[in-house]
Amino acid sequence: MDPLRKIKEEVLACQKCPLYKERKRNKFFPVIGEGNHQAEIMFVGEAPGLNEAKTGRPFCGAAGKILDELLESVGLNRKEVYITNILKDRPPQNRDPKPEEVSACTPYLDKQIEIINPKVICTLGNFSTRYIFKKYGLEKEIQGISRIRGQIFESKSLFSEIKIIPLYHPAVATYNANMKEVLKKDFNVLKNVVKGI
Ligand code: URA
Repeated sequence: MDPLRKIKEEVLACQKCPLYKERKRNKFFPVIGEGNHQAEIMFVGEAPGLNEAKTGRPFCGAAGKILDELLESVGLNRKEVYITNILKDRPPQNRDPKPEEVSACTPYLDKQIEIINPKVICTLGNFSTRYIFKKYGLEKEIQGISRIRGQIFESKSLFSEIKIIPLYHPAVATYNANMKEVLKKDFNVLKNVVKGI
């Protein structure tokens, strides 16, 4: 079986945290991830929202529209990259992920990263930045997203170097339209990174 497909089967059967019950109760779908299975750039968001849980697709609501625009602004599209989240199920009322949910769910993200083996991971927002920075031994660099956004951090994955680029979560531009320009400016770092890949 395709290894990413296998992860989907595992998540569908996973009952390690109470979000599973929420999924069943609401007839939601888990959101595994979407995009190119050989992507060089991977985006990691926080958790599915309502639209995502209803469709099983990451970033398909308002924040997703902004993400599409940002990708386009640097000459990328969803088919070239891989997009996933820290949590695969929607937390009720889109509340913050709980530490136990993050520990229950991130083994799936770890496997996705291992399989796709991206050269660049863009973290969207504080939760995914914290998780990915810890995973790659960058805990000393962890600060609020507003301080480290748009910078390139380097670390090593199993056999190769990896670049980690923390970015604001695109949802910030749904609350504050001025933030779209800030996000676009930060996304610009990806242009040079893509050229160098
Ligand atoms: N916000 C996220 O962090 N992920 C999604 O998939 C949608 C909204």
